[in-house]
Amino acid sequence: MYHFFYDEQAGETAPDNNYMEIHDFEEQIKYLAENNYYVPSWDELADFVNGKIGLPEKSIIITVDDGDESFFKLAVPVLEKYNFYATSFVITSWYPDRPEKYPSPVIDYQSHSNDMHKGGADGKGAILTIDYNSACEDLKASRSILGENCKIFCYPFGHYNDRAKQILKDCNYTMAFTVEGGYVTPGMDPYQLPRVRMSKGISLNAFITKIK
Ligand SMILES: [Zn+2]
Repeated sequence: MYHFFYDEQAGETAPDNNYMEIHDFEEQIKYLAENNYYVPSWDELADFVNGKIGLPEKSIIITVDDGDESFFKLAVPVLEKYNFYATSFVITSWYPDRPEKYPSPVIDYQSHSNDMHKGGADGKGAILTIDYNSACEDLKASRSILGENCKIFCYPFGHYNDRAKQILKDCNYTMAFTVEGGYVTPGMDPYQLPRVRMSKGISLNAFITKIK
């Protein structure tokens, strides 16, 4: 799980730990490419979670939340250089232009909600408390921007509950990611998949340890 990127050599600094230095990122992607890491499709991941298929031990899915410009300007060229796939979870009301402005053979666009990346009635992610129909409309709006292949969701702020999961199911989203730390394993709830957070300043060795 990544969010934003910055370039230290260009004099940029990171406002917080959600920023990855771009040369560190390139080392990471180079490592994955050179060590033949496999990027499963979403259908393959679903089958793996359901226990229908196995996956290579070296399997990984790169996800980048929000759809910030720094991802497209700095990180996508790196991914293209190594021909390595990544998923962009876009907040489509903030960044409706992403698929058209930044088409890339290595980027898969999925939803981080249309306009639910904000506090709801209880101060937590809006999907927890927004009324059912509005939530469905929001999810459809994302799909109309990102295309019919948009069927994977990333919970804003990682907030979810049973109702949110049901709404996603009803609106034909097949899997959803939290911000809880961990590896995806067979038998997990497909609407509550964990991830591994990548933070600023991580060494290549620490990165390798995290993905093992
Ligand atoms: Zn987010």
